[in-house]
Amino acid sequence: MNHTAPQTPLSVTKIPASGTEKAELLKKMAALRQDDARWQEGKTWSLVYHLDEDHTQLLKDAHNLFFSENYLNPMAFPSIKRMESEVVRMTASLLHGDESAVGAMTSGGTESIFLAVYAARERARKRKPWLRKPEMIVPASIHVAFGKAAHYLGIRLISTPLKADFTADPAAMARRISSRTILLAASAPQYPHGVLDPIAEIGQLAARHQLPFHVDSCIGGFMLPWLEQQGYPVAPFDFRVPGVTSISADVHKFGYAAKGASVLVYRNMDYFRHQFYIATEWPGGIYAATTFTGTRSGGPIAAAWAAINHLGVAGYQQHAQEIMQHAQHYQEGIRAIPELMILGHPAMSIVAYTTRDKQLNIYAIADQMEAKGWTVDRQQKPNCIHTTLMAKHIPLYPQYLKDLRAAVETVKAHPELARSGTAAMYGMMAKVPFRGMVRKSIRKIMEGMYGPDGEMPDLEHMNAKNTPEAGETDTPAKRGWWAQARRSWWNRLRGK
Ligand SMILES: *Cc1c(COP(=O)(O)O)cnc(C)c1O
Repeated sequence: MNHTAPQTPLSVTKIPASGTEKAELLKKMAALRQDDARWQEGKTWSLVYHLDEDHTQLLKDAHNLFFSENYLNPMAFPSIKRMESEVVRMTASLLHGDESAVGAMTSGGTESIFLAVYAARERARKRKPWLRKPEMIVPASIHVAFGKAAHYLGIRLISTPLKADFTADPAAMARRISSRTILLAASAPQYPHGVLDPIAEIGQLAARHQLPFHVDSCIGGFMLPWLEQQGYPVAPFDFRVPGVTSISADVHKFGYAAKGASVLVYRNMDYFRHQFYIATEWPGGIYAATTFTGTRSGGPIAAAWAAINHLGVAGYQQHAQEIMQHAQHYQEGIRAIPELMILGHPAMSIVAYTTRDKQLNIYAIADQMEAKGWTVDRQQKPNCIHTTLMAKHIPLYPQYLKDLRAAVETVKAHPELARSGTAAMYGMMAKVPFRGMVRKSIRKIMEGMYGPDGEMPDLEHMNAKNTPEAGETDTPAKRGWWAQARRSWWNRLRGK
């Protein structure tokens, strides 16, 4: 989670009576960006997968060419349909699907995952119409999009514990398989720690029980193949593994496409056909859809097609190799800080690290890094910091490591930092025994953010003002909902 600076109240609440000049609007919008994450300076370690300016310009040009086209109707725009089909085929062959591999492009990993889960549910409904409470079995590290899909689709998500190296535990997954199971899923690699799940073993399990098995390779689909081709050790994770029935791979991550581009590939039509939605009785006409969206820009598909064709295998390999070389130095740099350790064995350039001694608070270190201008991704279970090294970071990670070393020293010298800043808030959240209370508070924050005032939460400030240690100096008028949420937690914790 990132921590945003407070914003001034909304300045525009009604559609202006008359319009504003383009130049002035662009100036205003540029000013609005001042508090945004500084990805251009390489200060973020996720969110923006950027190569370089020339490449970005190519994406914009390709995107612009199909800016107005609406892919709602593929019959009307055969050009987009063709680019989609080519991207799907190229991705399918990259992931060693055979001639029968099929699939679609979606708006992103979340949609690809949603649709894979949906197709599995529909397939199960056809085959087992009596099935009332479908379940899917995943490792705890699976992307949250699976939980979201399960929630939306009325499926029970069975989350199984990880092994000590943070990989999925096939035995733990096997124990939960029942007549209600409709899908197994695992990641290549998983997002939190960047480790590769044992896809071959889970594939065996899926084959034995004749269950669909989705491999979430959203972040690795356009990276692991290049590493394998260059001789890095990469365990089998794609359609070469019997039992794997679908794979998601995001072109908008390491495929270096524009945002809004992911590929979902199925082993064959037997799985894919369950994803189609067909309506025959609508007064607006017969409607058939492959994916979730209705009106849809051709831009992201065009940009993805352009990115893949522009870079080619050689381009991707070169970037992958460069990133991996530096990722190894970066890992060595973290390992050289005796107080820190890397979680598991990262499969690519995603690295999560934490402190060896829990007395040394990793979130306090995160606060120190944020004070130096880095955007920090905090994770939990266990508490750690997530980083993904990309091209942008190559000139910068030595400075990051230097700042990290200094941050560790500062927190060591000042353990009280664990009781201020966001460290205090996260520490407190972790101690709240009832997750329902945390959920309730977050719902409050969302109601504030998306309420009529559209107010951004100022987590750090609220925290400093509202920690019970600070003597409850908050002013409810100013920070009403948050202050109340905090007090109610605290009072309930103390049994009041
Ligand atoms: C990014 C990611 C997703 C979700 O993709 P979005 O494009 O953000 O919707 C799913 N799984 C993994 C492993 C990811 O890294």
